[in-house]
Amino acid sequence: MSSGSKINTIGVLTSGGDAPGMNAAIRAVVRSAIAHGKKVKGIKRGYSGLLKGEIIDMDARSVSDIVQRGGTILQTARCVEMTTKEGQEEAAKAIKAAGIDGLVVIGGDGSFRGALALSTYGVNVVCIPGTIDLDVSCSDYTIGFDTAVNTAMAAIDKVRDTSTSHQRCSIIEVMGRNAGYLALWCGLANGAEDILLPEFYDFDEQKIVDHIMENRKRGKKHHIIINAEGIGHSMGMAQRIEAATGLETRATILGHMQRGGSPTCKDRVAATTMGCYAVDTLCQGKKNRVIVEKRGMITDFDIEEALQMEKELPEYQVSISRELAI
Ligand code: ATP
Repeated sequence: MSSGSKINTIGVLTSGGDAPGMNAAIRAVVRSAIAHGKKVKGIKRGYSGLLKGEIIDMDARSVSDIVQRGGTILQTARCVEMTTKEGQEEAAKAIKAAGIDGLVVIGGDGSFRGALALSTYGVNVVCIPGTIDLDVSCSDYTIGFDTAVNTAMAAIDKVRDTSTSHQRCSIIEVMGRNAGYLALWCGLANGAEDILLPEFYDFDEQKIVDHIMENRKRGKKHHIIINAEGIGHSMGMAQRIEAATGLETRATILGHMQRGGSPTCKDRVAATTMGCYAVDTLCQGKKNRVIVEKRGMITDFDIEEALQMEKELPEYQVSISRELAI
């Protein structure tokens, strides 16, 4: 790849919720930048650290031994100040004061909106989708999803064993914020009887109760319901279902365990590829881009256009999940 003349120093930060594979992305950005002859600065705790001037010099050794580690060595944060005009102005000033000519932002849609705001103050940004929720509209894949869904799947298998032994009904709540990707994937991978997705849920618990009773008549020994974080209220739902069916019903909220752990091969490779692609994009002189995966290919979009894109749950997978739960 050719090295552009304008970029001398590349900055990198992680923002929003942490996701397994963010470290592999940081490593790729740092080492690729060095390979292109650039200096690298790491910004700690996302936009929050940027506003406090928490900026460190990074070299090849700063990212040793992290490709296999969950979390993010740069740490992350949610920063309300960054949503204000004053905060955005301050953040852009901090980037310029640190001598950063190109900023790599690893995070979700919210983090990209922060990056878009910085770009309006003349900061050149490149974003990498990193979130366990898979809810970045412009990209088919987001770093961390594969690890999180595998972690949840393994946990749900364990709940299923005990659920079958006791002939229980189990509600298992998975993360995903307002998106149902994690719930849908877990539901399919774990063979759940019901998958409650924020995109489709109609709050009709009687339907669930009827489904449980039908399945009992068919001889099913358990009933696994995957509930998405965006619907929530799993504990109350369990009490109401137990009262209506007379069957022991338990709720398990998997919670933050889904964010941690060593990234899968898919996440390490996606993070590494996108990290290097982000640096190449900056070095080619491109401005304000989002790195995405589209139909198996890594490519880049204009950040403003990317943020206007829409993505929906795959209809086919939603329909087959219902077909198989008999
Ligand atoms: P995840 O999907 O893991 O939650 P995210 O990047 O979408 O990741 P958010 O909490 O939505 O997570 O956003 C991260 C940070 O980005 C926010 O704390 C805030 O600092 C900044 N941000 C979010 N929305 C905006 C916005 N509209 N304008 C400017 N900055 C924003």
